[in-house]
Amino acid sequence: MGLERIAILDCDEVLCTLRDTIVAECVPSLQGVEVPIWDYFSVVTPEELVAMRTRMKDPLFWRKLPVEPGAQAGVQKLRADGFHIVVATAPYRSNKMWGYERYGWLAKHFDIDPDDVLIGNRKHLIDGDLFIDDRPEHIVTWGPSHPNSLVVIKDRSYNRDIIPSTNTRRMANWGEIDCIIEAYHGRQTR
Ligand SMILES: [Mg+2]
Repeated sequence: MGLERIAILDCDEVLCTLRDTIVAECVPSLQGVEVPIWDYFSVVTPEELVAMRTRMKDPLFWRKLPVEPGAQAGVQKLRADGFHIVVATAPYRSNKMWGYERYGWLAKHFDIDPDDVLIGNRKHLIDGDLFIDDRPEHIVTWGPSHPNSLVVIKDRSYNRDIIPSTNTRRMANWGEIDCIIEAYHGRQTR
């Protein structure tokens, strides 16, 4: 990789649409609801929880997850701008096939080499130039650990009260990736 710039991208709610898919299939109580906390498992009914866990045990569920709107074009723009894409994704350990399915999904939809898929929750240990994630705890730990890099909050109802560090931008959707790339380069020339 040498001196190539690295963009670290989260997968769920950044590249694939996990939450809205499982809610549409299994969680009537949250359909159309803007949940203000990341851990939506904690606010569903016991019956819905069983339905979600059962559904997520099926490898096909992970294989068929939809791509986030605009994500493929957005990743293409990052690559065209010289970023090498690394995916940092937290595991769903209750499904033993999850990792295998995730490698396959990322290769199929984004042409990501499995060697560029880093599985784990300690994302702040990964070095990079640009970091895009939706989960509050990843954003608030990665940003201060990489003060010279740009952190991008993928906007969701549960991450709007984050107090961002100065190296942070918010992206409503992938349609805004041009502004993010511009912001990245603006920071480099300051
Ligand atoms: Mg995520």
